Amino acid sequence: MLSIIIPSYNEEGNVENTANVVSEIMMENKIDYELVFVNDGSKDKTWEKLTQLTRSMDNIVAINFSRNFGKESAIFAGLKEAKGDACVLMDCDLQHPPKTIVEMYNIWKNNPDIDIVEAKKADRGKENPIYKCFSLLFYKLIRKASGLEMKDASDFKLLDRRVVDQLNEMPERLTFFRAMSNWVGYNTATVYFEVQERFDGESKWSVKSLIKYAINSITAFTSAPLQLVTIIGALMFICAVVLGIQTLVMKFMGHSATGFTTVILLLLFIGSMIMISLGIIGHYLAKIYEEIKQRPRYIVRDRLSSKKNGD
Ligand code: UDP
Ligand code: MG
Repeated sequence: MLSIIIPSYNEEGNVENTANVVSEIMMENKIDYELVFVNDGSKDKTWEKLTQLTRSMDNIVAINFSRNFGKESAIFAGLKEAKGDACVLMDCDLQHPPKTIVEMYNIWKNNPDIDIVEAKKADRGKENPIYKCFSLLFYKLIRKASGLEMKDASDFKLLDRRVVDQLNEMPERLTFFRAMSNWVGYNTATVYFEVQERFDGESKWSVKSLIKYAINSITAFTSAPLQLVTIIGALMFICAVVLGIQTLVMKFMGHSATGFTTVILLLLFIGSMIMISLGIIGHYLAKIYEEIKQRPRYIVRDRLSSKKNGD
């Protein structure tokens, strides 16, 4: 069986259509499936719609969070609930074309040694150029820091049961699905898809939430920024030695009153470096604090499923 996991946040205009479109395609291709909707604390009628769907349609599982925990948590909740031999993650807005699921499914089915089928963006769709720039920078940083090539990666993936079990066992609270599913290894095949227009509503990501997501994803996944602090410190030390020698020479030659500007500039520069470094360390400290609290990644309020599914 194939489990299709669909995180949904304020998607009242999408859930029903998505459920219909995906079910139809699955039935056309005679794929045994379940749709696992995770309602990520929506403020609109998404949960009401999902409740109705579990009554009117087969093969629907609906999970309701107690509040908005973010897409990452929704993905992991879906993975936990899914019962399929393989799981596909897709967005609720049909930007990930459901036809590609069939393509991924066939690759997985016909190649027993393929565990992950990754769908990459053939083009990035209609995206704001500034956003495009930042996402390129973001992936470059990730590649430099952790060696994972994730440009054009998306959360649209098919995972074999063994990968899902592995991911479910990973204990960290601060997750970055895209990188974690890469990190676990396994044999990966790639398909390409064209990013579609959003079916209804608009993107849930604000600039602020994207920046936050980017910073959290990098720091959840690599400690390279901490090493950066050491490197900057070493560079500053070299500068300090050079300037120190210069200052001493000046003093012995009797020109010690000059160089006031240098002092001010150095003070400002070193001061800001120290503050940035402390900030980076503080950020990691905060992450450690959050991890160590051992709070759950999400809280499930309700769990419903179509009658045919048994529970
Ligand atoms: N989403 C979620 N929780 C959030 C934000 C988004 O579950 O806090 C879901 C959303 O419902 C959608 C998917 O994540 O299914 C992608 O969101 P969106 O389409 O807004 O992002 P974009 O396509 O612009 O990257
Ligand atoms: Mg979208």
